[in-house]
Amino acid sequence: MLPVALPDAVREALLAPLVDHHCHGVRRDDLGRAQFELLISESRLPAPPGTTHFDTPLGAGIRRWCAPVLDLEPHVAPAVYLARREELGAAEVNRRLLRAAGIVAFLVDTGLEAPDLLTAAEMGRHGGAAAAEIVRLEQVEQDIAETADVAVDYMDSLAEELVARAVRAVGLKSVIAYRCGLDFDPSRPSRGSVIAAANRRLSDPKEPLTDPILLRHLLWTAVDVARDRGLPIQFHTGYGGADLDLSRADPAQMTGFIRALQPLGVPVVLLHCYPYHRQAAYLSGVFPHVHVDVGLALTHTAAGSARVLDELLELVPFHKQLFSSDCYGLAETCHIGALYFRRGLAEVLASRIGSGEWTAADAARVAHMIGSGNARRVYRL
Ligand SMILES: [Zn+2]
Repeated sequence: MLPVALPDAVREALLAPLVDHHCHGVRRDDLGRAQFELLISESRLPAPPGTTHFDTPLGAGIRRWCAPVLDLEPHVAPAVYLARREELGAAEVNRRLLRAAGIVAFLVDTGLEAPDLLTAAEMGRHGGAAAAEIVRLEQVEQDIAETADVAVDYMDSLAEELVARAVRAVGLKSVIAYRCGLDFDPSRPSRGSVIAAANRRLSDPKEPLTDPILLRHLLWTAVDVARDRGLPIQFHTGYGGADLDLSRADPAQMTGFIRALQPLGVPVVLLHCYPYHRQAAYLSGVFPHVHVDVGLALTHTAAGSARVLDELLELVPFHKQLFSSDCYGLAETCHIGALYFRRGLAEVLASRIGSGEWTAADAARVAHMIGSGNARRVYRL
């Protein structure tokens, strides 16, 4: 599975079980080709007529590396792969691919929870791993907006619900990058401005929240909870779906907010980051509470993932980088995320050892830190 020869200690460190600090549930039902293809592209739209999402780095990676897990030859045609998937059934496919990923704990973002996705506990059971919950802030806000009657109720209920949800969670997550961009005003909004914005919100509560004042209020309420409970806050940054303005998802744009959090000691975890992973590496180097992950980018760059990891490791402190698969919908994305993390990191470490920059012992230690040790420390697992 590793593309280069490495000293035994480094090999063992790379193949050791991973803590997947950011992932979502995978589908429990059998999927037709159209549904499957939607889930291997972040666009979540069909490929143009006459083309297929299998003709992408991720699609090629699935044919190469997931086919053998389903007892097929590597590189089989998409139709053969999908026929075998159907023959085995979703439960068996999920069990095989989640276990092949070699993950010891899944930290599941439950914000996208739906009946056809495995729950956090089920991800653990199917994958032979532990599982814990990351609470998505905007989902909690949506629930409160749909039930609160007046602005003061909205504010009180939001704070109470975040406290209640945090009791069972190991972290919080914000998708403010999708809702208003990361170039938001970093200050805590005034109570008067929040009440006025909440009154507008309650007149149209079904829509996803995009008001920057309420998004900042949500974030600062979450900061209070995170500080009390010692929880990190994850942020979506960089690479994402078609409803994201990528240029407003550069994590350097939230430097003011990161600076404001530093004296509070609330850890910030920057997810995905690509193509701004160099900015993220810089932020994690200069701010003690900032951590970085290029999950999702490794899944989608697939055979090119070593270059992304190499660029991140130009600057990132080794105690600041975390692993995630960011799997969603398909167990294939879990296996592929873990596989290209291990393969990419193997190449980077081999080059450091080969040039005499690092010892094998250092390379093994760094692989353990990034694969699981840093996540155990940040999330207090
Ligand atoms: Zn995600």
